[in-house]
Amino acid sequence: MSMRLRLQPEAIGVGMTSQRVRDRLIERLRDGAHPGGGITDERVLNAIRTVPRHLFVDEALATRAYEDTALPIGHGQTISQPWVVARMTEALLAHGMPGKVLEVGTGSGYQATILAALGIEVHTVERIGELLRVARKRFRSLGLNIRSKHDDGRIGWPENGPFDGIIVTAAGPALVEALSAQLAVGGTLVAPVGAQGAQRLLVLRKDADGHIEQQDVAAVAFVPLLSGYVD
Ligand code: SAH
Repeated sequence: MSMRLRLQPEAIGVGMTSQRVRDRLIERLRDGAHPGGGITDERVLNAIRTVPRHLFVDEALATRAYEDTALPIGHGQTISQPWVVARMTEALLAHGMPGKVLEVGTGSGYQATILAALGIEVHTVERIGELLRVARKRFRSLGLNIRSKHDDGRIGWPENGPFDGIIVTAAGPALVEALSAQLAVGGTLVAPVGAQGAQRLLVLRKDADGHIEQQDVAAVAFVPLLSGYVD
């Protein structure tokens, strides 16, 4: 795995954010206690072990950063549960390492950083300006070159596409066609779809004829995919 993270001394962490606490999370993800099954892709587990999740939440929540749980990041949004980040990343990598990925819903910037740590060229779109500003600061301080845009991610990023992978981290009522249109042949799209309380994580693959095959991999709970954008 090509790791390009610049880790400052404070990122290495002490106490509740120590390597031992992080290793415990990795074992939890691996052991399959989650109803959706264990995570087996070592590249993904390695990225999660390496990226300091406590830097993506408020200092007051840092001690909970290595629990397998979603946490609030302000503006009514959440950083996804590590198991969900791991499963979605695993699905994106299942048919080979994608060169270029589009993420819809930057949020804290954690999922984008996991992808960048895997050596992927990341393009991410966020509709809440304030969240994006904070995420960009994190990218900068970790030395990551992640392309980001303040916009409604449902339109994707057509000028930068097509993408080998697309990951949507907020749930819409249905798949967004503009996004699957920006998926390269052989590419994978991972997205939660469905009403609150009944969302499914869908994995789509586009074959050489442009035909799309769909797989339902888990029950999930995401914040809603909303239209437009705000400061
Ligand atoms: N991937 C994020 C998860 C954040 S939660 C992380 O690792 O922290 C989902 C995010 O999607 C929120 O920040 C929310 O504002 C954003 N979002 C919702 N609808 C969106 C849209 N249409 N376009 C872009 N971002 C959107």
